[in-house]
Amino acid sequence: MSILVTGGAGYIASHTSVLLLKEGHDIVIFDNFCNSSSESIRRVESITDKKITAIEGDIRNRDDLIKVFDKYDIDSVIHFAGLKAVGESVDIPLKYYDYNLSGTITLCQVMKEYNCKSIVFSSSATVYGDPHTTPIKENFPTTATNPYGRTKLFIEEMLRDIFISDNEWKIVLLRYFNPVGAHISGTIGEDPQGIPNNLMPFVAQTAVGKREYLNIFGDDYDTPDGTGVRDYIHVMDLAQGHVDAIEKINSFDNVMTINLGTGNGYSVLDMVRAFEDASGRNVPYKIVQRRDGDIATCFADPSYAKEILGWEAKRSIREMCEDGWRWQSNNPNGYNNGEDKK
Ligand code: NAD
Ligand code: UDP
Repeated sequence: MSILVTGGAGYIASHTSVLLLKEGHDIVIFDNFCNSSSESIRRVESITDKKITAIEGDIRNRDDLIKVFDKYDIDSVIHFAGLKAVGESVDIPLKYYDYNLSGTITLCQVMKEYNCKSIVFSSSATVYGDPHTTPIKENFPTTATNPYGRTKLFIEEMLRDIFISDNEWKIVLLRYFNPVGAHISGTIGEDPQGIPNNLMPFVAQTAVGKREYLNIFGDDYDTPDGTGVRDYIHVMDLAQGHVDAIEKINSFDNVMTINLGTGNGYSVLDMVRAFEDASGRNVPYKIVQRRDGDIATCFADPSYAKEILGWEAKRSIREMCEDGWRWQSNNPNGYNNGEDKK
């Protein structure tokens, strides 16, 4: 019995794979490496001292998936594969619908053909749009303000429809808040291509000297210091949430929708200061205009995850910054130390 990890070479999946292997699960990694490097898989092997089965393939390609399901006895799928850059999704929406939505449709079709009906899906707090209040509970209304968010919403709805049509399916929708940090070894971490869109990789690259300064998008929000507030969660805590979900999935008799966040909100300036403290480096910044589509405050009510999965985030902001800094300072160019990707 194996767990298929789609997008397994990526940021969150590589950290999740470490824990899955440590818990004794067999995994098969499936990735087309469009936003990752196979070096991350080699490093997961080295952290866990285990050999990983890794297949290069695309979730949009039925034949690629069939080869995997033919060869391996796949019991469940943790489905990370997809594109995630909000701005890019506005510019090239069809690509996002193709990768995220068509890819997930093809994956589910093949799963059904092989009678594999168990899936944990990477959703996002973006589905809450601009929430009317915080902390955010799973039963808050959902909406989408960009094509990326819409793909997450559509996939959630599609998976619910699949369950309605066939109650044998076991489906967990994990809504992540803001994953940051890295494995404590400093050998795997987030490796964004080009200029990072997200705050913490940008902060880390500024601290290491790759970027001159951070642009802070607005200091006139209705928050304690005027900068945006988010629920940053250590990627290893997030990874643990997947292990807990996959281990409990067979006990659920309905589609489970679960927030994975810490329940704490930190501002951009809080994060900059925490990173400066953890790294001992300066992070120069300039206050610039608000970024289109940004909201003031977003943080989770994570109590349902505790109730249902027995899961809660354990790591502090300090650990998020220390571990993120270890990864960034040991790997200033990410996995690509002058070599080609893959
Ligand atoms: P990532 O880009 O590091 O990982 C995604 C992986 O999927 C990459 O290795 C990429 O090569 C692979 N992939 C993409 N399209 C594919 C395809 N068609 N076929 C096979 N492989 C493909 O991103 P991540 O941050 O690890 O995110 C993982 C998942 O979590 C994504 O679905 C993302 O939308 C979701 N998510 C991420 C965040 C975040 O802030 N990082 C927040 C909420 C949700
Ligand atoms: N942010 C910023 N500068 C950056 C990137 C992000 O000031 O270069 C702010 C952004 O406005 C938000 C917070 O940092 O308030 C988190 O942004 P991120 O893109 O990481 O996550 P999201 O907005 O998707 O929650």
